[in-house]
Amino acid sequence: MSQYPIKAALGQSGEIKFSKLAHEFTKIPALRANLTNATGTIRNKRASVVSEVSNWQTMRTRAAMIKDDSLANLDDLIKTLIQSVQERGGQVHFAHDARSANEIIVGIAKSHNFTEAIKVKSITTDEIGVNDALAKAGIKAQETDLAELIVQLAGEMPSHILVPAIHKNRDEIAELFSSTISKTKLENSPAILAEAARVYLREKFLSVPFGISGANFAVADSGSIAIVESEGNGRMCLTLPDVLVTVMGIEKVIKSFQDVPLFMELLARSSTGERMNPYTTIFHGVTPGDGPQEFHLVLLDNNRSSILSDPVSFETLRCIRCSACLNVCPVYERASGFSYGSVYQGPIGAILVPQLLGPEQAGSLAFASTLCGACYEVCPVKINIPRILTYLRSRANEANTSKSQRRAFAVASVVMSNPKLLRTAYAGVGFGNDLAAKIPKKLIDAIPLMNKWTKSRGIPSSRRINKISGKEK
Ligand code: SF4
Repeated sequence: MSQYPIKAALGQSGEIKFSKLAHEFTKIPALRANLTNATGTIRNKRASVVSEVSNWQTMRTRAAMIKDDSLANLDDLIKTLIQSVQERGGQVHFAHDARSANEIIVGIAKSHNFTEAIKVKSITTDEIGVNDALAKAGIKAQETDLAELIVQLAGEMPSHILVPAIHKNRDEIAELFSSTISKTKLENSPAILAEAARVYLREKFLSVPFGISGANFAVADSGSIAIVESEGNGRMCLTLPDVLVTVMGIEKVIKSFQDVPLFMELLARSSTGERMNPYTTIFHGVTPGDGPQEFHLVLLDNNRSSILSDPVSFETLRCIRCSACLNVCPVYERASGFSYGSVYQGPIGAILVPQLLGPEQAGSLAFASTLCGACYEVCPVKINIPRILTYLRSRANEANTSKSQRRAFAVASVVMSNPKLLRTAYAGVGFGNDLAAKIPKKLIDAIPLMNKWTKSRGIPSSRRINKISGKEK
C-alpha cells in the first residue's frame, strides 16, 4: 500500500487543507530528497538554456500579450476554431463541466463498443477524472507516458504537472515495475526500466483503437491541434487509433499559426530545459486513409469562464503548463505536490485550483507560498502569481471568516480607531498578561485556543505592552 494519496479528479477529495497535508508530507525524508534532487536538476537546465536567449524578456512580454489578446477575444476565436475543425472533418463538443466532458467521452467510446483507451499525458483529463469515468463504464484507460504509467501502476496521485512521478526514485520504480508489468525482477537502470515499459505499451499501441489526449495549443484559423511530449508515446496515440478524442481547456486557443513557434520555444526551455521539444505533433481534423478517421474535440469550460471575467486573476489563464514555477518554488520543494491535494500543484496550482473550485474548498492553497516572487520571474507568460495569490487570500479570508470573527474584527476596528479606548485596552491586556505570567506555562499551554499563541511564543509583560502603546519609552 502506497504512502501517497490515490489519484482523484479535481474537487473529489473534499476540502483541501494545505497546511495539514504539508505537515504530513514533510515528514517523509525520501520524498524530500527525491524532490530536491529532481527540481534542482531541472532548474539548473532551464537556467542554462534560458541564458542563451538574448531576447528572452521580450519573448515573455510578447507571449503574455498574445495570450491576453486571445483571452480578450475568446468567444470569436472559439467560433473560428469550431468552424475550422468541422471543415477539416472533426467534430466539436462543448463541456460545461467535468461531468459533461466525461459523459461525452464515455458516450463516444460506448458508441463504438470500445473496452480500452490509450492516453497521451494530459492534466486536463486528470482534472475531469476521465479514467474513473471510463472505468465505471467498463472501459480501461491506459496511460502511456512513462511517468503517468508509473503513477497509474502505483495507484497514486501525480505530484508534479510535468513529471507526475517526480516523487519516486529509480529503486522505487524498479520495484514497482518488477511487481506489475514485468515477470522478472528488474535492475534500477533507466535503460532496463524504459525497455520494460516499452514492451508493455507497444502491444497496447498496436491493438487499442481508441485514443485520448489533451492539447497544448489549438490554432483557431487553421483548426490545428498541437501536442508536445518527450517520448514518442503521444504520437503513437495520436496516429494509430481509429478514433481520437482531444480534451482541451477553452483557454488553450490562440489565433494564428504564426504564434506557435514563439510558444514552442518558451515552453521547451521553461519546462524540460531543452532547446527544442523532442516530439511535437500538429494535426488538423481527419485525413482520409491517414491517422484516426474520427476526431472529436471536447472544449472544456469547468469554471474557466468565471476566471476569465475577473479583472485581476484572469491572467491565470495564460498558463502554458510549463511547470517552471513548481521547480523554483521553495514551498513546493519542501511540501511536495501531494500537499496541494489536486492535479495542479505548486504556484500554478495555488492560484488555479482556488479559482476552479472556489475559496471554500481550496482557499488554503492561496496561502501555500512565501510570496518570494521566484515563480513570477520564471513564468514564460509573465503571470504575476504573487499578486494573484494575495488577491485570492483576501477572497479566501472573506469566504472563511465566521460571523463571530467578523464581530470581533468590527469591535477591534472601533477600539483601534479611538486612541483613548486603545490605551484602556492595552492597560487591560497588560494587567491580564501579568496575571497570566504568574500561572505555570504548562497550565496555560493546556488551554484550548490560548495554546495556539503560547506554544511557540511567550506572554508579553505589561512593560512591553506599555512600550508598544507608547506609554513608556
Ligand atoms: S504559471 Fe507560468 S511558470 Fe507556472 S506552469 Fe504556468 S506558464 Fe509555467
